[in-house]
Amino acid sequence: MKVTVIGVGYVGAVTGACLAFLGHRVTCVDVDGGKIDKLRRGESPIYEPGLEELIALAQERGAIDFDTDVATAVRNSEVVFIAVGTPSLPSGETNLAYLESAARTVGSAMEPGRFYVVVNKSTVPVGCGNLVEALVREGITQTQPAAAAKFDFAVASNPEFLREGSAIDDSLYPGRIVLGSASTRAISTLTELYRPLTEQSFAPPSFAPRPADMTKVPVISTSLASAEMIKYSANAFLALKIGFANEMGNICERVGADVIEVMKGIGLDSRIGSGFLNAGIGWGGSCFGKDVSSLLHTATEYGYEARILEASLAVNKMQRSVVIQKLQEKLFILKGRTIALLGLAFKPYTDDLRDAPSIQIAERLLRMGARVRVFDPIAMEACQAQHADLKLCYCENAPQAVIGADAVVLVTEWPEFAALDLTELAKKMKRPVLIDGRNLFDPELAMQAGFEYTGVGRASRQARTGDSEPAQPPVAARRAPARSVAETQLAAKAGR
Ligand code: NAD
Repeated sequence: MKVTVIGVGYVGAVTGACLAFLGHRVTCVDVDGGKIDKLRRGESPIYEPGLEELIALAQERGAIDFDTDVATAVRNSEVVFIAVGTPSLPSGETNLAYLESAARTVGSAMEPGRFYVVVNKSTVPVGCGNLVEALVREGITQTQPAAAAKFDFAVASNPEFLREGSAIDDSLYPGRIVLGSASTRAISTLTELYRPLTEQSFAPPSFAPRPADMTKVPVISTSLASAEMIKYSANAFLALKIGFANEMGNICERVGADVIEVMKGIGLDSRIGSGFLNAGIGWGGSCFGKDVSSLLHTATEYGYEARILEASLAVNKMQRSVVIQKLQEKLFILKGRTIALLGLAFKPYTDDLRDAPSIQIAERLLRMGARVRVFDPIAMEACQAQHADLKLCYCENAPQAVIGADAVVLVTEWPEFAALDLTELAKKMKRPVLIDGRNLFDPELAMQAGFEYTGVGRASRQARTGDSEPAQPPVAARRAPARSVAETQLAAKAGR
């Protein structure tokens, strides 16, 4: 099918590349000419493992183009995906300006006598499907009022569940595809579009092999409003799970329990599930904060007080302060101290810094008079560009970042940090204080290496039992899943 994807950010670029790889003819468009230029040269404007390789495959097949001319691309398409940003306004309400502009452009570019499916892939509040329909119609009547009756289109919602850092795997091997529309023609068009995915009938790319247990992908066909709610509901629940683990961790710390053991103990219950139960310094990223705030705003608009959502946001906000409190407990005075931050990205395998805890932590430390040395394997360039006002000392690697530091804070759980020689690291520091914001390290091993170790929600084995059992392997090693595209690429880069 002929497809246009509007917006080549984290979602649009991946969606476009995957659909082209699956055999469709895709044009990806964006108002940002710089991103389009990069993509035309085969370079990804974002760090996403496997994306450049997938684009190269699609380009070899002549299946993908990149352009700033939204109108021409839309005119010649059967399916138009809108994948523009929907950030938060200060009130928590969603900023719909990009969506509205894209929808009007779509309407003004359409031709009479053809059928178009306009798909909201952006995460949008309930009712935006109707809004997009009205704006597309407005675009049509403004450009071709006399022929308005001859235009045929339907709007659908197809929420995106990919995770940055594993977006290619998530898109080629999704858990489900949600299609919401009042139009059966739109649903059947999209069902056809996604058939290679749902049937898993494509030959997997070498860098993103099909998981052994992957079979067919379920399609859930719903109303527009339900599809829009599914996305918010999913993110609200995931954010809540992390918030719950953090709250349990805060209690564990006080009573001498270990949140990792506790979450393992509850996660094995199939009614609970083990995903997203990691205690730490709280969630970040471009989605959870804005989506939970947006859902809360929608609920308020309808006169409903969403107390669970409110609590979820409040717990996460409080959790962001944990690092500063723990540093103060150890060092008392932060003014004039040197603090090393390991990790800037909101999670491993991405360069995305939107709502990243690292930025808030760095800002607070700088305001308190500390000097901040940082290292991140991927996100340093993005941080320098987006946060030029922050007076951070950017270092070449983790060992360099900790030289002369009074404390080191593990902010992002990049696997290469789990492989660090902690004994060597501790020796380089002025005072070997380690605040493990992601519970990446084994407390006993860190202490054996010479660190004064503090995790989140964990009491040391000795403090809990007074016994002298041999320490378990590092948490990271225990948790290690099968290697993803991202891990394989990074390991190759690091020669591992
Ligand atoms: P992004 O900011 O990375 O990309 C959005 C792109 O849209 C930008 O390149 C921007 O220049 C472009 N754009 C804005 N207005 C435009 C217009 N009128 N015409 C053409 N291009 C335009 O955003 P993202 O992270 O890809 O997120 C996009 C949407 O997908 C959001 O609604 C988000 O909530 C949702 N989502 C994101 C993720 C994620 O992990 N990032 C996951 C699932 C869903």
